[in-house]
Amino acid sequence: MSITLDLSRASAPVKAPVNLSGLTREGLRNALVEANICPPEKAKMRASQVWRWIHHYGVTDFALMSDIGKETRAALAEAFTLARPEIVERQVSKDGTRKYLIRTAPGIEVEAVYIPDVGRAGALCVSSQVGCTLNCTFCHTGTQKLVRNLTTAEIVAQVQVARDDLDEWPSPKEDRRLSNIVFMGMGEPLYNLDHVADAIDIISDNEGIALSRRRITVSTSGVVPQLHALGERTAAMLAISLHATNDALRDVLVPLNKKYPLDQLMAGIRAYPGLANTRRVTFEYVMLKGVNDSPDEARALVKLIEGIPSKVNLIPFNPWPGTDYECSDWKTIERFAAILNKAGYASPIRTPRGRDILAACGQLKSESEKQRASARIKAERAERDVDDSAAA
Ligand code: SF4
Repeated sequence: MSITLDLSRASAPVKAPVNLSGLTREGLRNALVEANICPPEKAKMRASQVWRWIHHYGVTDFALMSDIGKETRAALAEAFTLARPEIVERQVSKDGTRKYLIRTAPGIEVEAVYIPDVGRAGALCVSSQVGCTLNCTFCHTGTQKLVRNLTTAEIVAQVQVARDDLDEWPSPKEDRRLSNIVFMGMGEPLYNLDHVADAIDIISDNEGIALSRRRITVSTSGVVPQLHALGERTAAMLAISLHATNDALRDVLVPLNKKYPLDQLMAGIRAYPGLANTRRVTFEYVMLKGVNDSPDEARALVKLIEGIPSKVNLIPFNPWPGTDYECSDWKTIERFAAILNKAGYASPIRTPRGRDILAACGQLKSESEKQRASARIKAERAERDVDDSAAA
């Protein structure tokens, strides 16, 4: 007698259901057809219905899609998911800033920060990668290794989680609390352009979250070869993490500068699609005491950006444990701003927000990760102590 083992079940990888929230309209149509939810000729109509439920009403349960037949809803629930990721931690600062630590998959945690009274009503700062490869020396996130690019669904989920928390479903036409999106969280968005661009398509769609592309800003450290593609594909507003006016200093502060020095970067910015007085570039400039904050540097900055429709955000440095940099004195920052203003450039000094919950610029994730790491070490120590005493 011979015995054969059926290993087909054991070896078949368990495929997680696709989350429809991360699909573009086209992706959604294709997914519905592939899963036999509807024939190709009905896909456009069916996808539109599903789309509105997901992105306009924010539902997470197919059963609530009341204009879709019961059987179809059951089939959708069988093939797909709309589940939100787990919120590991939600913190609210004294100034109203809200920070979410979101676990999208085992070992994949990202932070998104909602800042009220920024932009038209309130801005959500989203992450595009877990960790970052660029090692900007003033940035705490840069001390973390890159884990991976976020998927489109993981980027969109940050917006959905914030809107759940702000009670902003269905998408209001006016009086929104979340009016702007900035890709200024963890990671370099232009190293994950495909997913960032798809996420922007989803969150700007008029039959969904419907945030205008003019209220979506993508901030880059200067991945010059991708600048044009960013403008063409997303029509998003551009922000440049500049921080220095000469290559010698920028090589240190933003090491990517060694690859794409300032002359290439400035040429790429000048050629950014749609650049105009009504669509200005934002230059971000972190104020570091005795490093880049002199009046001479302010004048050099004016010269560098001459002729580019732009404004300069001056960011008081947010110190983090282990850094050698310090924040410039307030007077120095004001003097720097006055030189830019006099030359015709708006140069708001960004008030640090959410410092008490480590949600301010450049502080993302790392502290919570550190706290968890120290809790883990303590737990391991305690475990060892218990083992040692048991062995004694
Ligand atoms: S500033 Fe941005 S690009 Fe630079 S290390 Fe930090 S997260 Fe990365």
